[in-house]
Amino acid sequence: MKAVAVFPKSREVRVIEDAPEPRLSSPTQVRVRTLEVGVCGTDKEIADFRYGTPPEGSDFLIVGHEALGEVVEVGSAVQGLKPGDLVVPRVRRPCPHERCPACRHGYPDFCITGGYTERGIQKAHGFCAQFFVEDVAYLHRVPAPLRHVAVLTEPLTIAEKALREVEHLKERLPWEPKPGRAVVLGSGPVGLLGAMVLLRAGYSTTVYSRSPKPNVKAEVAEALGAPYLSSQQVPVEELRKRAGPVDVVYEAAGASKAAFEVLKVLGPNGIFIFTGVPGRKEPLELEGAALLKQMVLHNQVVLGTVNAADMDFDAALEDLERFHARWPGRLERMITARHPPEEFIQVVSDKAGGIKHVITFG
Ligand SMILES: [Zn+2]
Ligand SMILES: [Zn+2]
Repeated sequence: MKAVAVFPKSREVRVIEDAPEPRLSSPTQVRVRTLEVGVCGTDKEIADFRYGTPPEGSDFLIVGHEALGEVVEVGSAVQGLKPGDLVVPRVRRPCPHERCPACRHGYPDFCITGGYTERGIQKAHGFCAQFFVEDVAYLHRVPAPLRHVAVLTEPLTIAEKALREVEHLKERLPWEPKPGRAVVLGSGPVGLLGAMVLLRAGYSTTVYSRSPKPNVKAEVAEALGAPYLSSQQVPVEELRKRAGPVDVVYEAAGASKAAFEVLKVLGPNGIFIFTGVPGRKEPLELEGAALLKQMVLHNQVVLGTVNAADMDFDAALEDLERFHARWPGRLERMITARHPPEEFIQVVSDKAGGIKHVITFG
């Protein structure tokens, strides 16, 4: 079958035509025909050989972790799925270690050993292939009306997990705080989907990102009801004045300098969530004392979050239905273009532009 793979040793990224077609090997497995695979910054890093590890014994890694597919075959013990159903798979699989409480409790997103695998990223083939096989435990059924936007489920789960954690953290306040103001830093898919989750939860939300207006990301943000401010046009001091004291900052840019700048706008009892993984690693000078003082005197929380759990995928699928009804056409607008697998390299080169690019298997 056709698949998109990276070969780290020979530093090649290419379509392979003769990847072995996966077969069911346990009664709880499901064989899925891939429909769409979203491409994100992680894929760019993998295609740059800065990240990603092939499965043991393989010299290549099939990429792709943001997938939508159609069930073609189910094992004899599979319940709740049948051929023709649409599904999205989760990404991370638990480590084998008894001492890892996170994985043993079904939360590999909190794995403490680092021995987890991730499909399309870490020691497990991904979904950017004509077919994949997955255990039913890692698949989520997608309602048919979401066919054209469900490829956004996985990036949305990042925001779902983050907001779930914000709700837990708010319980530290002995009264019931109302959703207040939020700033989303970054306007890629994770940022814009985060803005949707925050708006849905009742936060008055501003998107703060690099590109000056007008641009398609600003257009999507403002159509949702989130004002868009460009950091090239509005400095952080001005953002502080315009947005007021901020209760939640949702960082989805992976730019450390901008992130610590925006930390300064976080208000009393505020929560700052990091989701971006910085690519460039230049040293950064910080006003450490001022930042620590701010965080202590204002009871602030700084939180990093990665990946997502079972329940976040369920929440994401429910939210996609809500978003679809509340903002018709907006999710579709976030998918900039659909491409054949042969165009993967072109998509991961920085020239692609737009918001979300998707590989399709016709
Ligand atoms: Zn991704
Ligand atoms: Zn673990």
